[in-house]
Amino acid sequence: MKWDMIVIGAGIIGLATAERLLMQGAKVMILERNKVGQESSWAGGGILSPLYPWDYSDDVTQLTSYSANQFPAWVSALQEATGMDPEYETSGMLILPPYDEKTAQQWCSTRGIKIELRVVSKIDSIENISETYRGKTHDHALFLPDIAQVRNPRLLQALHKRILQLGGSIKENCPVHHFKTAHRKILSITSFCGEFDADNYIICAGAWSEELLGTQTIKLNIKPIKGQMLLFKFDTPPLHTILVQNGLYIIPRRDGHLLIGSTLEDVGFNKQTTVFAREYLLTRAQAILPLLHKKPIIQHWAGLRPASLNNLPTIGKHPMIDNLFFNCGHFRYGLTMAPASAEILVNEITCAPQPFDITPYQAERNVNNSQSSSR
Ligand SMILES: Cc1cc2nc3c(=O)[nH]c(=O)nc-3n(C[C@H](O)[C@H](O)[C@H](O)COP(=O)(O)OP(=O)(O)OC[C@H]3O[C@@H](n4cnc5c(N)ncnc54)[C@H](O)[C@@H]3O)c2cc1C
Repeated sequence: MKWDMIVIGAGIIGLATAERLLMQGAKVMILERNKVGQESSWAGGGILSPLYPWDYSDDVTQLTSYSANQFPAWVSALQEATGMDPEYETSGMLILPPYDEKTAQQWCSTRGIKIELRVVSKIDSIENISETYRGKTHDHALFLPDIAQVRNPRLLQALHKRILQLGGSIKENCPVHHFKTAHRKILSITSFCGEFDADNYIICAGAWSEELLGTQTIKLNIKPIKGQMLLFKFDTPPLHTILVQNGLYIIPRRDGHLLIGSTLEDVGFNKQTTVFAREYLLTRAQAILPLLHKKPIIQHWAGLRPASLNNLPTIGKHPMIDNLFFNCGHFRYGLTMAPASAEILVNEITCAPQPFDITPYQAERNVNNSQSSSR
């Protein structure tokens, strides 16, 4: 069978892209090296915003904000179609000291984003928080009430089901390792489960995207950055809002699960968890939520973020190969950026108008960057 599109990689980005293409009537196959949704997209926390949004460029903000706004409608359509609930929740995000209040307030006010300086001891939803943050020295925190979260493993399962419902094909245990090219085109791709051809090919292989390109490589500047997380379980949620303190975050799920994240480790394609990271995350989380002293860690894992320069993904056409596209390199915020990244890429493939200027995300910027850096 000849496909319109072959998507390589079944993380959140590959699945969201495939879903959008299928909704537009394309014949789509996804080739996945292992199992659907088991890499970075599964390992992530599911916060639908950058942690300190004012620390990022306008290009990151544009994509994350536009994308986060799509979640309520996207998730509710998925839930209706599949009967699976990805647990989208506007739980808000409370940033404990230290923070730069002036920068945060200014950034939010120019963008019309709600932010409140809250007295921590007066917030009921976080009564279990340590005295350190409810005492004389620290009793204030910045609250962003509109920030939401999603239970990412559930979102991936719902998308998997939706793609099959829409007639998409997914081949698991099928690593792609070679592209046959001629005259600025890919003719076919070879994987361990055979050779496949399509009109167009889309690379959504997360941290592995750059190495997958092999001889078709351009400098995407994508590399793995490991993140480790801890999981706890309470009978009832000990918090109802996401907490952030100096880069550490604590995410409460509806059913009492509590995630603690995360590390940022430049150690190559190595997903091993470490005792050092477990102790580091645990000690810091216990200092915020003393209740954690009484609870065992029920899971500890690591994932490889597809790190890119300035957190900017590459979305769009390969500059030299006409039927090869990218949607990769979403680094710390790929769950947040997924629906918008899928929309932008599909607009580009179908020559539909874009919601904003997409130049900052296009592959050409990497070609220009690598040319200027080699001078
Ligand atoms: C600890 C941690 C916390 C995070 N927290 C958040 C958060 O709170 N909010 C947020 O927005 N983002 C978060 N992220 C980032 C987010 O998870 C990633 O940006 C996002 O998952 C990237 O999605 P992806 O589909 O590109 O990559 P992946 O999910 O890694 O998917 C890539 C897929 O490609 C497949 N593949 C690779 N090579 C091949 C090949 N040769 N052939 C076929 N298939 C191949 C892989 O097996 C994989 O399934 C976090 C990440 C981590 C690790």
